Amino acid sequence: MIIRVPDLKEEVRQLAFQEPAARLNARIAGSPGSDDQHFARDLAVVAEIYRSERDVHFQGRVEGEVRAVCARCLEEFDRPLERSFRFVILPRPLATDDSEDDEGVDHYSGDELDLGPLVAEQALLALDSMPLCSPDCRGLCSRCGANLNREECRCSEEERSRGASRPLSLRGIAVRE
Ligand SMILES: [Zn+2]
Ligand SMILES: [Zn+2]
Repeated sequence: MIIRVPDLKEEVRQLAFQEPAARLNARIAGSPGSDDQHFARDLAVVAEIYRSERDVHFQGRVEGEVRAVCARCLEEFDRPLERSFRFVILPRPLATDDSEDDEGVDHYSGDELDLGPLVAEQALLALDSMPLCSPDCRGLCSRCGANLNREECRCSEEERSRGASRPLSLRGIAVRE
């Protein structure tokens, strides 16, 4: 979504557009260790934009759907993603001295402003660092691989009966298995 800054006015303009899932997923693929989730559909952006002098105010929210692999049980699940944002975007200073560049302030150069990268960044920030299908996912049994959300695994039971029938000297080993 490219906006021509001179076309913006003091009056608030409503914006609604989609940021393609493919573009977001390409950015996820570029960051190591986050290939366990992707956007299942295009990101919906609903926002307001206006210009005050040369500063552009852009605020609204992104809504999408993320398909992720649970870090504990390895099941795939979908979850809604939502995040509100507010940007003040200033013209890029002409001075070569960029030490005055404030952290957290975005800039545009020339007359055009591409909103795509700004909303994409917001969507990526809303991803989980460790996706979980549910906060109390019980995960997989580390011995038999059973999904403990769905089934009661019998490892602990077997372990207990086996441990009891073994000579005392071997019990320590059984526990460490
Ligand atoms: Zn899970
Ligand atoms: Zn088990």
